[in-house]
Amino acid sequence: MRLLALVFVAALLSVAVVHAQETSERTDVLNVHQLPLGDGRISAEPRAGYVMSCTTSFRGGGARADVPWIHGDVWDLTQKISVAGRVMWPQAQFKITVESIDRVVSRIIEGNGLPVNTPTGNFPISPADIAFQFDRNPNSIEPQQVFLRLPMNPRIAVSPSCVPMGMIGVALNGVAIYNALDADGRDAVAHEVQDRCNGHPQMRGQYHYHGPSPCLPQETAREQLIGYALDGLGIYSMSDAQGRELTDADLDECHGRNSVVEWNGRRQNVYHYVLTREYPYTIGCFRGMPLLTRPNFGRPPFGMRGLRPEMPGMPLFPPSPPSGGSSDF
Ligand SMILES: [Zn+2]
Repeated sequence: MRLLALVFVAALLSVAVVHAQETSERTDVLNVHQLPLGDGRISAEPRAGYVMSCTTSFRGGGARADVPWIHGDVWDLTQKISVAGRVMWPQAQFKITVESIDRVVSRIIEGNGLPVNTPTGNFPISPADIAFQFDRNPNSIEPQQVFLRLPMNPRIAVSPSCVPMGMIGVALNGVAIYNALDADGRDAVAHEVQDRCNGHPQMRGQYHYHGPSPCLPQETAREQLIGYALDGLGIYSMSDAQGRELTDADLDECHGRNSVVEWNGRRQNVYHYVLTREYPYTIGCFRGMPLLTRPNFGRPPFGMRGLRPEMPGMPLFPPSPPSGGSSDF
């Protein structure tokens, strides 16, 4: 009887060990020494592996073109340098609540744009920092006013719409998510020098990520929510249910897919965006109906369809970038 009990305990233990391995193992698919450079992959129409950008003319002024980690049309993630520093932001504010008015249920996201429990580098980039040789980002990190009213159960739009420059989503640590492009319309993740969390501020001081951040604790987990896009759809981590890394080959033209994930408190098959280490990293186009995030923009940019009315207190973005800045997006 005692022997039987021991066997039973051993069996339980081995199940626990196997289970632990299953949940921690990941299978990398991409060669991080030779990631495809996304330069030039901007499209006016939805196209897999591209950014369907609302902006089609770029003014330039970003990071330098010749950086040692870009080799022709590929770049080496492991060679890229980071902005120095480890600054914490105890004044960071971020909360997500649910609002129900006349049976319309919304997710309210409020914050000041500063990273919660997540460090940043020292900005502006100091001339003493090696990163300064490649990217002279002169901007400081400043608090923002973020107020988003997103649908709890977003509908898929009749047709996808373009992604603007500036905030297109928000991570669960309160940091803005931008598209894959820098101020020159190039691959921002490859060209721009960011901090260890892959973030940096633009000219209004808004700290943001253009792609994966090693400081998002769930980013490599299996199908975990890591943020929300401005159309209300979820942005999920970079591994599928089996722990295999997801790439553009697994995703549609908006950089998303349908699979069973935890969404609004239950497991269900929903459309969502996926964070990848491959360009365009975050969102290629909006599948839902995005909030207009530029209250002063006037008319929606060409190609931006399905916009819903803007809300009071939306995050502020300039109608056009001031001249003389650099590393703006
Ligand atoms: Zn940027």
